[in-house]
Amino acid sequence: MCGIFCFSSNEEINSNTGVNGLKKLEYRGYDSFGAFQINNNKENLTKEIGEVEKFSFPEEIKTKYFLSHTRWATHGKVTKENSHPHLSNDSNIIIVHNGIIENFQELKDSLVYKGYKFKSQTDTEVISNLIQEELTTQNNFLQATNKVCKKITGRYSFVAFNVKTKEMIGVRNGSPLIVGKKGNSIFISSDAPAFFDITNTVSYIDDGQIAYINQKLNQNCIFYKLNSLEEIYKKEIKLEIENQKIHKKNFKHYMLKEIMEQKHTIKRAIETNKEAITKLANLINKKKKVYFIGCGTSAFVGQSSKYIFHDIANLKTDFEISSEFKSIQNFIDKDTIVIGLSQSGETIDTIEALEIAKSKGATTACIVNNENSTMFRICDTAIPVKAGTEIAVASTKSTTSKMAILILTAYSCINKQKIGFNELIRNQALINDMLNPGFEEHIIKIAKKFFHHKHMFVIGKGYNFTVALEGALKIKELSYINTQAFQAGELKHGSIALIEKGTPVIAIAPNDCNQNDVLTSAHEIKSRGGVIIGLSENKSEVFDEFIKVPNCKEGNLMAYTIPLQIFSYHLANFNKFNPDKPRNLAKSVTVK
Ligand code: GLU
Repeated sequence: MCGIFCFSSNEEINSNTGVNGLKKLEYRGYDSFGAFQINNNKENLTKEIGEVEKFSFPEEIKTKYFLSHTRWATHGKVTKENSHPHLSNDSNIIIVHNGIIENFQELKDSLVYKGYKFKSQTDTEVISNLIQEELTTQNNFLQATNKVCKKITGRYSFVAFNVKTKEMIGVRNGSPLIVGKKGNSIFISSDAPAFFDITNTVSYIDDGQIAYINQKLNQNCIFYKLNSLEEIYKKEIKLEIENQKIHKKNFKHYMLKEIMEQKHTIKRAIETNKEAITKLANLINKKKKVYFIGCGTSAFVGQSSKYIFHDIANLKTDFEISSEFKSIQNFIDKDTIVIGLSQSGETIDTIEALEIAKSKGATTACIVNNENSTMFRICDTAIPVKAGTEIAVASTKSTTSKMAILILTAYSCINKQKIGFNELIRNQALINDMLNPGFEEHIIKIAKKFFHHKHMFVIGKGYNFTVALEGALKIKELSYINTQAFQAGELKHGSIALIEKGTPVIAIAPNDCNQNDVLTSAHEIKSRGGVIIGLSENKSEVFDEFIKVPNCKEGNLMAYTIPLQIFSYHLANFNKFNPDKPRNLAKSVTVK
């Protein structure tokens, strides 16, 4: 995934400006980080394991050229050697890279054959050495880099710097990269907010394009097409900067703050999007086939659409995990709409699936929180989730906002937007009441009883099965407790064998047509020693623990998801794990 933050300037900039930019990209990976800069004509390379958050350079360090990177390892362990930037053997070419070079091994073998030495196990290091090798036969850095791009395969972006000539090149070929401009200072970053403190004037580099920066030229940033090196004109865009500074306020973690923001984010998602939702509903009504796609938490939101559109609009929709979409592509044609769900709008698996859909003539849409994202630009229609920046890696408020948008879309499909809207506003009020300090305190007490367990189960039925799936994922990703979700009726067909004395089982049992079935399964589990944590409107005698959730009808999808977010957050706290930065994860998954 990785975050890239670089600059080239005709005047010296404090190195911490670069580090601060990098810190804003830490959501993209936090295994290790590194930076390269030239201070008083001396090159300075820093590589560290861990989070960049606590790092800073001494105040006096200033530089005109800065490359930095926060890593989410794909090739090679989390070590200092594998951290970026990576240098060529002659130390003249510096590389920071996001993505994967698929054919790196054969390229590495041929370089090793020529005598090149490799310091890391990464795929990245081949890029710097391939450019060095190209420069032995020509002295044009741009052409050499372009030639290297013809040799490497995969989805990637990278920034290359030539120490001798001070030229900087950003290449985008599947992973995001954006240029920010302030006077003669050019910033290249994986995401625009990283330089929002400095500038909001940006140019998007699209796939298959290069940004070339040479401070010696009048026009210090020139854009080219990859391969042909044809010069291209790029519009400068002024992006709107979200004004509020993002901080934790009085909360211990961003995750809890973001959970509590659900007191108003659901309302915001539907209030600001009525027209866009009508447009999406019209498109859905025109198409014969409707596919939702997503990954992780967004996948469960997508899966819930099957029930939402069935229950509210009597419409058949399908769902596919984005990374599996290729395998069902024969069903996609011009009569299809494919709707991508994502927080970041940069999830590469979903982008790739949307590209496949486009190539098959399908209409594409997305429901995405980050409005500056690739998905927003490539889809035929895009709905902003408007949940505000989500910092915690585990998605919370953007999840329930997406659910609200889907519910309202289903109502809009049958021309009942107003009814759906009022219903969702009623849901928002009930959720607001639910999220009171006593509610959290109660869940903390339950988490305290169960945090030491190694296995848990969550059961639900109908749309509540997708709530169970999402709850199980949250517990897994935050507390590393092996948690599985089941359709309540399915457990007895095999997996009930896993239940033993004391096994915690969370039963999602709202007062709906499936409640009796869920309670029956809970009884079957309890008879075999399981301990039932029941989420419902009313207490049942089968529950050992009870969390009261208000009846939000279709909005139960949101209402029942939230207590599980709070439960998993506190399980992580009791286990002394950082809920904002779970191990091995990153917020924006831009690699396959
Ligand atoms: N493949 C590179 C590495 O493992 C970059 C990884 C990424 O973009 O996440 O260092």
